[in-house]
Amino acid sequence: MIQPALQNDAFLADVAAADSAADAFNLWWLGQSGFLIQWEGHRILLDPYLSDSLTEKYAATDKPHVRMTARVVDPARLTRIDAVTASHVHTDHLDPQTLQPLCRANPAMRLVCPESIRASARTRSGLPDDQILGLDFPVTDPSKPAASTGSAVPESTRVGPFEIHAVPAAHEHLDRDVDGHLIALGWLVRFGRWTVYHSGDTMLYPGMEELLRTRGIDLALLPINGRSPERRVAGNLWGREAAELAHAIGARWVIPCHYDQFEFNTATPDEFVAACRGLGQGFSVLQAGGRWTPGGG
Ligand SMILES: [Zn+2]
Repeated sequence: MIQPALQNDAFLADVAAADSAADAFNLWWLGQSGFLIQWEGHRILLDPYLSDSLTEKYAATDKPHVRMTARVVDPARLTRIDAVTASHVHTDHLDPQTLQPLCRANPAMRLVCPESIRASARTRSGLPDDQILGLDFPVTDPSKPAASTGSAVPESTRVGPFEIHAVPAAHEHLDRDVDGHLIALGWLVRFGRWTVYHSGDTMLYPGMEELLRTRGIDLALLPINGRSPERRVAGNLWGREAAELAHAIGARWVIPCHYDQFEFNTATPDEFVAACRGLGQGFSVLQAGGRWTPGGG
């Protein structure tokens, strides 16, 4: 079992000790696609998975989810969280055993998710509807400017100092539900002078680069576990694709994610690292529980 860089009390002490002065931006990887961002002392969680619910669910099946990295922290101990995101309905991004303790510890917290998964978000989190902020990206071809579908669902929202904008995610396609709402999204999270892109689970899709390269992205958080030939789970970017996407959209830094969590669905960051080096792309490879600060490597 891989041990987190910081875990439990040590992790919480690091978060508490992190600078909360003006413009101070710190980020921790929680494993899989989960991140904690702290800016000026405000906190947002992106797609946290901090339980063993998938290991339990698939224990006696042909798809056992054997955990590779120990859990960073008990979600019940994460406090002062303004918002949590869930980019799509899969349990490693919308986990009842993570969300329910988190909601009890943070009763005013907002859950930001695709409008298409509102019912699952409500059931799994236990939050009332008015604390679930459903977003959508209505444009069919993201490379073409707005042709609104007339949807009443917003593309962006604000929680505390965090502005969260929806971006399409292709997991593996830009599928929509019966109401025309995208089933998977990524996020542009803006706060102060910073813009973070958390892609959710996605492959490349037409118009993606055009959509993202004008957004002034400082940091991109991208999956690197790729696609299994048998397609047992919906696919993601390969390491090389993640590096090339970060470079194409002008991200100053990129951090890989969605690996080292489950034995059946992982990758090494080697290909990602080699591609970033080849492109001169700024990057950082974190250990779960590890902290990143801008310019801090
Ligand atoms: Zn996933």
